[in-house]
Amino acid sequence: MNHLYCSLCRKKYGLKEILFRCPKCNEPLEVVCELPKTNKDDLTRRRENSLWRYKDFFPLKGKIKKISLNEGGTPLIKSFNLGRKIGLRSLYLKNEILNPTGSFKDRGTSIGISWALHLGFDKVGTVSTGNMAVSVGAYAARAGIKSFILVSVGIPKNKLGHISTFNPLILEVEGDYGQLYYESLKIGKKKGIYFINSDNPFRVEGQKTVAFEICEKFSFDVPDFVFIPVSAGGNFFAIYKGFKEFYNLGFIPKIPELIGVQAEGCSPIANAFKKGKKSIERVKNSQTIAHAIANPFPPSGNRVLRIARENKGKIVSVSDKEILNAQKLLSKYEGIFCQPASATSIASVIKLKKEGYLKGGEVIVSILTGNGLNDPSVFEYYKPNLKKANLNELDSLLN
Ligand SMILES: *Cc1c(COP(=O)(O)O)cnc(C)c1O
Ligand SMILES: [Zn+2]
Repeated sequence: MNHLYCSLCRKKYGLKEILFRCPKCNEPLEVVCELPKTNKDDLTRRRENSLWRYKDFFPLKGKIKKISLNEGGTPLIKSFNLGRKIGLRSLYLKNEILNPTGSFKDRGTSIGISWALHLGFDKVGTVSTGNMAVSVGAYAARAGIKSFILVSVGIPKNKLGHISTFNPLILEVEGDYGQLYYESLKIGKKKGIYFINSDNPFRVEGQKTVAFEICEKFSFDVPDFVFIPVSAGGNFFAIYKGFKEFYNLGFIPKIPELIGVQAEGCSPIANAFKKGKKSIERVKNSQTIAHAIANPFPPSGNRVLRIARENKGKIVSVSDKEILNAQKLLSKYEGIFCQPASATSIASVIKLKKEGYLKGGEVIVSILTGNGLNDPSVFEYYKPNLKKANLNELDSLLN
């Protein structure tokens, strides 16, 4: 029977309970659903290209109004130029930038909103600094329902503008951003707003499909490593869950080594991992250009630590300098402009190659989580190669 599950204390809850965290130990809950009786051949023959291709892997049974903008089904491309430059023979980029609002968040939002409607909600909300707000705003518009976005004070104007195009009610909240997540769950319950935050169990269901797609693209011969930018930890968990489900079905021979990447200026999970701690500690002064992954107290932090430990994964951090450099290299060598939060994955690929952890022959997937255009503040770091000219100078200047 499908249910919500706490992987720490092993308690089960009803699937339709409006619960996001375990009331007993406050850890995030996960959806446990009966895996479909399907096989690899059946899967590869499916014609749907969006994530709804995996419909029977979601807990959405019966009559469901699906809210979709054709999220998922993103390209996995080989990085020939940058890969060679780093010294890696098989580096692949999973281009999540090509989702409808420019980040992987759309996968989770599609399932999260469809579930909210199924439960009878007509209002949704989220706590976000950018991508998730844009995603929830867009999908709420698509569903024709109202959305409520809680942001922290000082959110950049251009981000606010982007979110506003979808016409949600935005609350700029003073106080601890990490605490806002917990407050949102309380107030949502009171006001009948379904909050689709970073590690909402149903958001995770949508986001696990990244792993499914990678498995299919490699004809079920999985990569050795997957590099994942980590903030709240919802996506790291989702990707792990996706691989685990295919592994349990016997579709893949192993679960890849998952490398979670944080920004040095805000790396509570990487810090705890390095020190061998079981639980994360709140970061006091978070400071990084990778705004989209700057969560000082990640709600799924402890769960990410557990997974990394139990599955020979790793949680690492990279500096702003390394992040900017990786962003530039991706643009320059592969023509893909991703945002700093997203460039952390390539930054750590480069770093782990330098440190000798990666040898060169491994099959590696780097998840490019979000579009550079969603975070235009970085343009100040780019100096245009620009010359002024008048019409009759074009000939000589283009020599
Ligand atoms: C949200 C986000 C992340 C981090 O995902 P979590 O589930 O919060 O760990 C990474 N990169 C980008 C671009 C994001 O928008
Ligand atoms: Zn529990």
